[in-house]
Amino acid sequence: MTQLLPTDAATTNECLPSGRLIVLTGPSGVGKGTLLRRLHQRYPDLYFSISVTTRSPRQNEIHGKDYYFVSRSDFERMIASSELLEWAEFAGNYYGTPRESVEKQISQGKCVLLEIELQGARKIYNIFPQALRIFIQPPSLKELEQRLRGRGQESEEVIARRLCRAKEEIKAANEFDFQITNDNIEAALKQLEVILFGSR
Ligand code: ADP
Ligand code: 5GP
Repeated sequence: MTQLLPTDAATTNECLPSGRLIVLTGPSGVGKGTLLRRLHQRYPDLYFSISVTTRSPRQNEIHGKDYYFVSRSDFERMIASSELLEWAEFAGNYYGTPRESVEKQISQGKCVLLEIELQGARKIYNIFPQALRIFIQPPSLKELEQRLRGRGQESEEVIARRLCRAKEEIKAANEFDFQITNDNIEAALKQLEVILFGSR
């Protein structure tokens, strides 16, 4: 079931208090990281899984905070030893969710947020069908492209790959429980809060 606006969720408490997996997906550049950083500031008790990637760090990204940056051979070793709950290749790099920390937090009753792309979201749904899945939509493809360029971190080739992937991901948005359009960041954050915690 997909609900475009979380009006009906205003009276529910989808996330707390019991441990639950929350999957946040959406095209690269839509503002997932921006939204989650703000959510984290407001709810430090939520557990934000830190992914492993073979991508190079962007300016200001910190190993162990934004990602664990590893070599391809290290990543492949992690796949082989089942250290990743899910993993996928995206725009020429590997990305994966460390298994142990996520399982530990869930077993302790914490809510765990995964910010992952579509293939990973589908894998997580197969393992945890009760996961809450949220898709972040851009106001338009043009605005998405502007945000990707505005971030100023990727080459033209990488931007083109990410935009191509964005179109595929947007086609699958109906698979998700909720969709939020990140036009105004404060409004999008509010919708996310209502989905997760109900209106307060
Ligand atoms: P993602 O994590 O989805 O790849 P980011 O959070 O890195 O995206 O955001 C991409 C760019 O878009 C950043 O420069 C960010 O500041 C900007 N951005 C995010 N949300 C908005 C918004 N609502 N309006 C305008 N710009 C935004
Ligand atoms: P970026 O390079 O922009 O940080 O991330 C590229 C894409 O990889 C984004 O869609 C992001 O959500 C996704 N991603 C980040 N971590 C993971 C992960 O652990 N698993 C999967 N499947 N995707 C991830």
